[in-house]
Amino acid sequence: MNKKQPIGAAIMLALSIIFILSSQTKNTKYKTLEIYDVFDTYSELTLLGKNTEKALTECNAYLHDADTRWSAKNPESEISALNSAAGVSEVALSDDTLDMLEKSVQYSVYTNGFFDITVGSLVNLWDISKAQIPSNESITTAIHKTGFNLLEINKENKTAMLSCTGAAVDLGAVAKGYATAELLNILKKNGISSALINLGGNTYALGNRSDGTPWKIGIQDPGDTSRTIGDLSVYDTSVITSGNYQRYFEKDGVRYHHIINPYTGNPSNSGLLSVTVINRDPFIADILSTACFVIGYKESLPLLRESDSKAIFVTEDNTVYYSADLQNNFDYDNSAYEYKSFK
Ligand code: AMP
Ligand code: MG
Repeated sequence: MNKKQPIGAAIMLALSIIFILSSQTKNTKYKTLEIYDVFDTYSELTLLGKNTEKALTECNAYLHDADTRWSAKNPESEISALNSAAGVSEVALSDDTLDMLEKSVQYSVYTNGFFDITVGSLVNLWDISKAQIPSNESITTAIHKTGFNLLEINKENKTAMLSCTGAAVDLGAVAKGYATAELLNILKKNGISSALINLGGNTYALGNRSDGTPWKIGIQDPGDTSRTIGDLSVYDTSVITSGNYQRYFEKDGVRYHHIINPYTGNPSNSGLLSVTVINRDPFIADILSTACFVIGYKESLPLLRESDSKAIFVTEDNTVYYSADLQNNFDYDNSAYEYKSFK
């Protein structure tokens, strides 16, 4: 971790602490921390146990520190430094940043580049907030600046470098998953055995709830985000969704969303509205949800089997395909969809 704690981050830290809430369930005290200013999203940590205040303070500090170092919006972050030095020089990085990038390259290889940690130039080109469709030429140029082999990591020197000018790493598909794994270490160190972590919809259920029943996680309906397609009952696992409804703009009746197929350079078009991946490892679940969204339902199945993951796919023809192993954990009744299990 970076020892420097910028003043802004320290103030945010103090602000966030104010949002620690207590709730009582059957004589058991949960503490909840709401965080509005990390990873560009809303997060919520709900903890049960003796050291909840201390654990929440440590989690909050970790998240703010990680965000300060990883945010592409912060020109002084490690990731901004790495991207601005693309094609020019290597950049010194913290241990966890290096570790995250190294593992991300490994998973870029594993997913055949459908998840690609160097998709930054394409993501920047398709800047959802600008709501503009890029030209074919600019897409082709950005595709040439994308490729996990462009990211060179030197573990001994603790540096990394992008070998092509204009290339950029993008942590959007991994940072929350990686941070969740770090939060779990903090919780375990503090003896917390029951918790629900929610970083912008990326959830992890630690242990069971205080009454001994599993945590219930609603899976959002991509067609109507005020509803769910069903509830998953889970413990000791992460549940992570990638979907075309999370960030997008529409032009002439076409939806352009935030998950890019690195081969075509366009928002992926694999027939899915969303995919939820269930895996004990939040980092793997985060990467696979993005990768499977680009790859599509049928073609993702070998990857899910190999990685011991379960999944729920929602397709454009309003079918929900869910892993047969989830049969007893997935409670569904949304009449807009037809439900089918797969093995
Ligand atoms: P997620 O919501 O986890 O699926 O991550 C989506 C975010 O990851 C996007 O907002 C981009 O920042 C980034 N991203 C988009 N497409 C890809 C891709 N094919 N590989 C890696 N990251 C991507
Ligand atoms: Mg992801």
